[in-house]
Amino acid sequence: VFQLSVPLNFLGSVYRELRQSLLDMETLFNLQKVNVAIKEPPNAKPLALTGGEIKFENVTFGYRPDRPILKNLDLTIPAGKKVAIVGPSGCGKSTILRLLFRSYDVQEGRILIDGQDIRDVSIESLRKAIGVVPQDTPLFNDTIEHNIRYGNLNAPPEDVEKAAKRARIHEIIQRFPDGYKTMVGERGMMISGGEKQRLAVSRLILKDPPLLFFDEATSALDTHTETTLLQNINSILREKARTSVFVAHRLRTIYDSDVIIVLKDGNVAEQGTHEKLVDSDGVYSELWSAQEMLFIEGEQEKKEEGSPKK
Ligand code: ATP
Repeated sequence: VFQLSVPLNFLGSVYRELRQSLLDMETLFNLQKVNVAIKEPPNAKPLALTGGEIKFENVTFGYRPDRPILKNLDLTIPAGKKVAIVGPSGCGKSTILRLLFRSYDVQEGRILIDGQDIRDVSIESLRKAIGVVPQDTPLFNDTIEHNIRYGNLNAPPEDVEKAAKRARIHEIIQRFPDGYKTMVGERGMMISGGEKQRLAVSRLILKDPPLLFFDEATSALDTHTETTLLQNINSILREKARTSVFVAHRLRTIYDSDVIIVLKDGNVAEQGTHEKLVDSDGVYSELWSAQEMLFIEGEQEKKEEGSPKK
């Protein structure tokens, strides 16, 4: 029985691995789903980054041309600064990030990174320069370690661990049944939304791209974990003078940004620092007061670690 079971087990694991890699290819393909309309000119040069300044010039875009989401939008994200984009649900915050990644192209106007129209540079170099923590991060059916290492396939295990520490997930991983070798994804261990977000942040820290985009990246974390994670992210951004864009609903997570851009009806309603916007008594100031009230009330009912917040 023993002799027979060994080769069978072996075959089983080969089969599992095969299935695994097929599934991973599927995930990868979905992740990088190519929009056929997105093209690069022949002999496109790689994006040449100097400081990482991003400019939208007169940008008009709608998923359907008859329903524009962004209308003649002008905005500047200064090199090396932390910028937040806020505004009502559906106003086009995530769309700005998708346009920057060239998941779609603008209908009018242009987007420049360090003075280069992103349609003129190679798509590979553009996407390599960008790291995104999306609203919902896909996990591969693989180990925790592989899921983080996807950010940089050549990273040694020490760097994977270092990234996980900075993303405040290392201690949790150590408590998993097989530590960094624990399988996650559909057929692995179920992990919480907050843990998933922190894995995505680890992946980004390991990738270490020049441009970092966070789309509601810490929305599933409890207040304490969120605050310390944001502090760690801030220190990385400052240390390396990276350009970053945060899309957020909860203003408490972005009030320390160098520039806060408030979007409304497809355009910039107001922009400036938190202090300036609060003083100007506009949309931001109203939202801030309303959210502060909610936050104070929420803090009174102490929340459990990892439970999603409203
Ligand atoms: P939220 O704060 O709710 O995440 P948002 O400001 O990030 O919203 P977007 O995701 O940029 O908003 O979406 C802007 C508008 O475009 C919304 O009305 C949305 O329904 C629509 N939209 C988004 N993605 C698509 C798509 N792939 N096809 C068609 N419409 C879309």
